Amino acid sequence: MQDIKQQILSRLSLPALIGETVPLQKRGNFATGLCPFHEESTPSFYVYEDHYHCYGCGAHGDAISYVRQVQGLPFMDSLRWLADKAGVSLASSEEEKKYAQEWKKKARENQVLLAAKAFFSANLQDKPKGQSARAYLETRQLSQALTEDLGVGYALHATDALFQHLKGLGFSVAEMEACSLINQGRGQAYDFFQNRLILPIRD
Ligand SMILES: [Zn+2]
Repeated sequence: MQDIKQQILSRLSLPALIGETVPLQKRGNFATGLCPFHEESTPSFYVYEDHYHCYGCGAHGDAISYVRQVQGLPFMDSLRWLADKAGVSLASSEEEKKYAQEWKKKARENQVLLAAKAFFSANLQDKPKGQSARAYLETRQLSQALTEDLGVGYALHATDALFQHLKGLGFSVAEMEACSLINQGRGQAYDFFQNRLILPIRD
């Protein structure tokens, strides 16, 4: 944000900006005029490239504070207004913000998926619950070492076993749904995978 602000300010000439509404007299590296913040008949308002100062009322600041005061805009809106004038796009920083939000959401979804994977793996190893699935894997001649290596799991023969498990871990219905792990119908959540071998895709 600080970079964007500097970028905007460096592209704007403060005397030119203020000069649009306040008649200024150029005097070397600064300009003077009648202060827009107090009533006066002789100029005590000095405008430099990066700041202004009034020797009459003490008004002082940069382009952003000028726009804030004169136009009565909040900081971000003043910055937007100036960015537009300077031809600087604020999109990059807003895109970054959006990216950070999406990244956070993605990280949360990864947690949901990892929790689901751990649950499916535990089901497969569970003596009574995973028995039929393990027997099936044997018929496909997949060794236990290989299935463990691949992280193969088992979705129980139940309607909401995973849902209840993930709910217990504090995950929301929306988060589970975003990962396509559950479906909703008639005000109830159902596991998307039921009585199935699960092969996690890692890459
Ligand atoms: Zn003043």
